[in-house]
Amino acid sequence: MTHPQTRAVRAWAPPPPTSRPVAVPLYQTSTFAFEDPDACAEGLRHPDRGYSYTRHSNPTTRALETAVADLEGGVAALATASGMGAINAVLLALLRSGDHLIVQRRVYGGTQSVLMRLAERFGVAVTRISGADAGELAAAVRPETRLLYLETIANPTTEVADLPALLAAGRAAGLVCVVDNTFATPMLCRPIEYGADVVVHSATKYLGGHDDVVAGLAVFASRDVHERVWHLAADLGAVVDPFASWLVLRGLKTLALRVERHCENAGRLAHLLEGHPRVAHVRWPGLPSHPSHAVARRILDGYGGVLSFEVDGDVRAFLVRLRCAELATSLGGPQTLVLHPATTSHRELDEAELRAAGISPGTLRVSAGLEHHEDLLADFAQALKA
Ligand SMILES: *Cc1c(COP(=O)(O)O)cnc(C)c1O
Repeated sequence: MTHPQTRAVRAWAPPPPTSRPVAVPLYQTSTFAFEDPDACAEGLRHPDRGYSYTRHSNPTTRALETAVADLEGGVAALATASGMGAINAVLLALLRSGDHLIVQRRVYGGTQSVLMRLAERFGVAVTRISGADAGELAAAVRPETRLLYLETIANPTTEVADLPALLAAGRAAGLVCVVDNTFATPMLCRPIEYGADVVVHSATKYLGGHDDVVAGLAVFASRDVHERVWHLAADLGAVVDPFASWLVLRGLKTLALRVERHCENAGRLAHLLEGHPRVAHVRWPGLPSHPSHAVARRILDGYGGVLSFEVDGDVRAFLVRLRCAELATSLGGPQTLVLHPATTSHRELDEAELRAAGISPGTLRVSAGLEHHEDLLADFAQALKA
């Protein structure tokens, strides 16, 4: 018999012999033990050859990666510590100094700052395009252009990129095509179907869906690209914690139901606001007045849970009066969140840049939550009376 000190550190639950867990178990372990010394090294060399150390792979994380790869129509995925972790791992693994990339002008603020750093410190040239037409993209291609970076639905203007046309032009030019599909989720759009090589997500938003986890994913159309990004992410340490993977897996189970309600509530809010005398420029892809309504109808299976609008008058007074909706950054959670981009997400832009981004001092972004629509509409209506 060993001593209590020894027995206490060897507690173990063998897998059940005649039944299996219905929910994916949380493998909250940093490392894995082996009988065979050769097998231990294999798991560190390749993403599909067993589990050795959680920075390289983990069964709970693998369950999440497999599920999201399947939903997006990819062959493999990589879960990361945040959406920015996924975006950085993809860009750093696929680009080198001297390369040129083409990016849609209105991408996420964090992505903008990564691209600026790539340009300033690593000599990667960046060209910004409106994303409205494929001809503009073709004209921006140079011999050293390597990568095209798009977002399915832009923030906060909710413009929808014409992915079939842009990705066809990107592929024709031999570019690696990356699409941030955070706002659409695979329930509304699967960019790999239109030719994307890599799809990235902030799983912090709709995939996790409960405002309680920060995580990211990159989904790949080819195993070769997956392996390159996986190696780099393991080296960078951009990897997700198993508990975060477990929370996102839990969120995935209700993704379809939640996205349906997010879209429905966003639509009801958009219609209420569009008819309101104190509101201008309501932007939600489901409104026929939206500039990309036709594209949205063609490529989305729903118009999304995010909308933006402009309050005519005192924005502060409106925000302070909201009761049901919270004033907060982030999106895709159960509660309706309202954000003032000019002083938060886009605070570093000057007036001209703000205008180019489609933002005015009165612009507000709304992430419609899962509340009963009557409570939500009543809240916005009373706050607008201020
Ligand atoms: C939030 C967000 C990101 C960054 O994700 P984090 O999980 O916050 O790192 C990237 N792209 C889009 C579109 C986002 O909304």
